Amino acid sequence: MTTISKTIHRIASERFAIKRLKRWLPPNVSQVIKVLHKAGGQAFLVGGAVRDVFLGRRTNDWDIATNLLPSQVASLFSKVVRAGEKHGTIMVIIDGEPIEVTTFRRDGAYLDQRRPAAVEFHTNINEDLTRRDFTINAIAADLINERIIDPFAGVADLRKGVVRCVGDPSTRFNEDGLRILRAVRFAGVLSFRIEKTTRAAIPKAINTFLAVSWERKRDEMSRLLAAAPFFSACIRELWHTGLLKELAPELMTIQPTRLKAIDNIKANQPWQRFTAWAMLANLTPNIAGEILRRWRAGNQVIREVEQNLKALNLLTDNSPPKGYSLRCWLSQIDAATAKTSAKIAACIWHSYHEFPRRTQRAINRNLPLKISQLAITGNDLVAAGFVGREVGETLTQILEFVIKHPQLNKRNQLITFAHRLSTGKT
Ligand code: ATP
Ligand code: MG
Repeated sequence: MTTISKTIHRIASERFAIKRLKRWLPPNVSQVIKVLHKAGGQAFLVGGAVRDVFLGRRTNDWDIATNLLPSQVASLFSKVVRAGEKHGTIMVIIDGEPIEVTTFRRDGAYLDQRRPAAVEFHTNINEDLTRRDFTINAIAADLINERIIDPFAGVADLRKGVVRCVGDPSTRFNEDGLRILRAVRFAGVLSFRIEKTTRAAIPKAINTFLAVSWERKRDEMSRLLAAAPFFSACIRELWHTGLLKELAPELMTIQPTRLKAIDNIKANQPWQRFTAWAMLANLTPNIAGEILRRWRAGNQVIREVEQNLKALNLLTDNSPPKGYSLRCWLSQIDAATAKTSAKIAACIWHSYHEFPRRTQRAINRNLPLKISQLAITGNDLVAAGFVGREVGETLTQILEFVIKHPQLNKRNQLITFAHRLSTGKT
């Protein structure tokens, strides 16, 4: 990836990470750890939270691992959700917020590529860390005894900026094909590089990736779109690993090097980034919608992407519309779509720099751009002698006239104009 960092990342020392964890830990998570400990159990923070604290990144996602069995965990708290109990997870609810507590486990094979077919519970944290995908995600923090458990040198990999599998990459990718996309996601989101043998194993695991459910793939893609600072570099990695061909071959009509403009769109706007990508790849709204349906995206997302793409398709990349042509554009779309697609256009086309502000000003003027905003209604035309289809057709022509001359949106003038239309005098 172009963002590959060969530099040493500044990360917290273990002592400082523990201190920071204690400072950042929400009181309810801290309470769960204390209750598990009091009951004679171990309780470690694991996964993304520990990784992110080392990197100085704030997190809201606190996962706890324990040696207590799920039923024991459930008996210690008054409010729990037991839906994930079979897989070792009890969701503890404190102050209305859920905190996941998972018994140390090893996963069996992922037979349906959704969840492991069977899990084995363990009493040793090292066993639990062994099942985790990457070394940087396999670090545990024991806040009670103030120590970090890091059997795979994940902290050193954080310092080097490396995504490396726990264990043999091919074996790990064959257990769960989603991990190859996760490797690209973590590298993209953290601006890390993928370690050589881990990277080399990715193309060979594509077949396993094919069997993974689209819901899991969609979650990873939206997290990648939502959090990678340099998304265009991620596209390059998706392309070269063979992942893009499986996820959306339709998007391979444009080389990743020509997609740098997408990075101008804020990371927290994943679907705007996707829209820009689809636009630059020359996709029709229908094809973009097809990709999103394949990814099992929500209907609202699909609708918004399709509408924004339609709006962008009405523009030309070198000359942003002004005055009358801007009003014509606005008359064909709703205000929210106009604002969003103007922002996307400004990010992908240089000449559209001023366009969002101009669009906003035009929207604020509340100009008559729809039939419902005309100073005349169908009833007025009927009263003036228009009948049947004539009424609708005349209203459309009047709207065209008013878009051209918004200052003439006055009832009497429009009735006169309608009569002139019907007698062919315009
Ligand atoms: P994020 O901050 O994006 O949520 P995360 O590291 O918390 O990143 P999650 O997908 O929330 O990622 O998973 C939590 C932890 O569970 C990971 O850190 C990793 O240890 C483990 N994990 C999740 N998915 C897998 C997987 N498919 N294979 C192995 N371990 C996994
Ligand atoms: Mg997480």
